[in-house]
Formats: sequence, C-alpha cells, structure tokens
Amino acid sequence: MIVFDLKCADGHVFEAWFRDGETFDAQAAAGEVACPVCGDTAVAKAPMAPNVARKAQAREAERAARKLRALREHVEKTCEHVGERFPEEARKIHHGEVDKRGIYGEASLDEARALNEEGIEFGWLPFGPSHDS
Ligand SMILES: [Zn+2]
Repeated sequence: MIVFDLKCADGHVFEAWFRDGETFDAQAAAGEVACPVCGDTAVAKAPMAPNVARKAQAREAERAARKLRALREHVEKTCEHVGERFPEEARKIHHGEVDKRGIYGEASLDEARALNEEGIEFGWLPFGPSHDS
C-alpha cells in the first residue's frame, strides 16, 4: 500500500491509499478517485512537502528520544542512584564528608532550591526515576 497526498481542482488536499502508483494512475484516469470534500474526480498528486515535513518531524522526535535514552543510560551506568536521599548525599559530597562521586536521585523543588542556595551544584535530568531496575 502507498499513501498519496491528493489535490482536487478546487484545491482540497486529502490523503488516499492505493495498492501502488499504477493503481492510482488507473483509478484517477477512470474518475474513480473523488475528493471527499466536494466529490471532484479531477484529482492529482499534491506536492509531497507536507508528508516530508511530517517525516522529518518524526525523525527529529525519534532522535531526541534516542538522545534522552542514551543520557539516561549514561547516568545510570556512571552514577549511583540515591533516590530520595539525593539532597542529603549531595550535601555530604559538597562538604567532603564522603568521597566525591556521581549521584542521581529525586529532590523536591524546595529541596532543590535549598541546595542551590547552599551553592551545591547539580543538574536537572529530563526524566523521572527508573522503576524497572
Ligand atoms: Zn475538492
């Protein structure tokens, strides 16, 4: 199956599925392809740009998701998950009470603000805690 963006003589653009390009040519020539808006059978393939743009968008979203997964895997592999002890552990590391190491976990907005005010550096991860480990 193949999808075409079609355009009638009135300028309505719609999508239609065909077995292949030849089927479309034959059906269109026989007047069997009608515009769903006005019923016009003088339809032609519309420029593919909207479809191409959608595909590019989908690719972009996929790339972003892949990047996020990679970041998450990297963090989970190289940092210790301390869960809700994050603010406490971050403070200990900041004050040299424990060895400096990479940690990640959860903190409330208030806790994060407090850490920030204490000059403790941390970053936000664009994903929530993993529950599947
Ligand atoms: Zn139409």
